[in-house]
Amino acid sequence: MPHPKKKLTKAAKNQRRSHHALKAINLAKCENCGKPIKPHRACLICGQYKKREVIDITKKLPKKEQLKIAKKKTKEENKGLKKVQKEAEKLKKTESKKEDRKEGMKSVVRGDK
Ligand SMILES: [Zn+2]
Repeated sequence: MPHPKKKLTKAAKNQRRSHHALKAINLAKCENCGKPIKPHRACLICGQYKKREVIDITKKLPKKEQLKIAKKKTKEENKGLKKVQKEAEKLKKTESKKEDRKEGMKSVVRGDK
């Protein structure tokens, strides 16, 4: 068995152990949810890094809740699509009205009915 040649004094032992203390880790705030996170790492609570979704946190949840969230997302997407479609229809209507007016003016200038 290996054996120390001389007795290690308390002072020497304590001096060696003076560097063994644990330091508190530095924490940053998540930009999205505000929870403390390790810097330069994705937030494990909301799954975002630099305002982008990097981790799909719904995978951790049970399947029922996953389905609920997926349904909500599709509903929101559909709402957005409907809004865009409505706006496009409005634009088309206003443009067609403008064209009608222009043609009406032309016919008045030409003098035909
Ligand atoms: Zn977060």
